[in-house]
Amino acid sequence: MRHGRRSGSCWVSWLLSAVLLLAISFTYDWGHASQILFAYERNELQSARSEIDQNHVKIGELQQAIAQLSIELAQETKAAKELRQQLSKLQATKASDPPAGVIFYQGNTSSKEVAITIDDAFVPSLVEKALGILASNRATATFFPVGRMISADPGIFRQAVKDGIQLGNHTYDHEWLTQLTPSQITAQIDGWQNAIDQALGYHYDTVWFRPPGMAGFTSRQLDKKYGPIVGKYDLNVALWDVDTYTGIYKSKGLNVAPSVVADYVLSHAHPGSVILMHFDTPDIAALPAILQGLEAKGLKPVTLSKLYNYSPTK
Ligand SMILES: [Zn+2]
Repeated sequence: MRHGRRSGSCWVSWLLSAVLLLAISFTYDWGHASQILFAYERNELQSARSEIDQNHVKIGELQQAIAQLSIELAQETKAAKELRQQLSKLQATKASDPPAGVIFYQGNTSSKEVAITIDDAFVPSLVEKALGILASNRATATFFPVGRMISADPGIFRQAVKDGIQLGNHTYDHEWLTQLTPSQITAQIDGWQNAIDQALGYHYDTVWFRPPGMAGFTSRQLDKKYGPIVGKYDLNVALWDVDTYTGIYKSKGLNVAPSVVADYVLSHAHPGSVILMHFDTPDIAALPAILQGLEAKGLKPVTLSKLYNYSPTK
């Protein structure tokens, strides 16, 4: 029994020792394992921190990029707004341009404006004289010089455009359209355009065409044969309702006093009138009296396009 008790006690103590040994071993391993685990977690933490730091840098860079993009967007928005404004201005201008192929001889009769138009320019000194008179009276006009006179004296027409004078196509050689073939008509119109473009050094855009001698445009109607050719150019036919040639020179010749010309124009001009004159001596000599007389009648000389903005009478 004693032996058995001793044996039993021995087994218990062995078991306790084994448990103790296991506990020590486990604790030792646990501590070692904990150390490895902590080290591993420290590393993880450090790499996570460094990743966070890197992300902060990236966020900072992204914020800078966003700020830069916001500035660019604001600039683009401003530019787009300016472009939209320009576009609506252009559309407004386009809307006020006369439709191509229209015959125009009179503006709105309830306006206080008239258009003085002066043709041909066969005598350059008279063009210079007219420019001086218009400038000193602070008045404007529309000239229909022939293309070959523009080529001969480009400087005068550079000055005219500089002075705000409007120019219209009157063909290159002043040939009657009715005596030309369609290809000759286009050559005449193109010739005028090339002459003014060369004189100015840039493309001069005009919406006005005046047929020499009114040939091909009778009775205020577009001639079926010649009208469509002109219409293809987006040009409108600029006729008139007051004409010194038909009114005076045709019956009296060019030897008339300037006062006769001025009286004729002033007694026939009314609101919306388009006055046709030529670079002839009596017409240009009468120009100062015409300008003063129009002013006295409360009529302001404007360009054809300005007159047309008052809505045309076809
Ligand atoms: Zn002419």
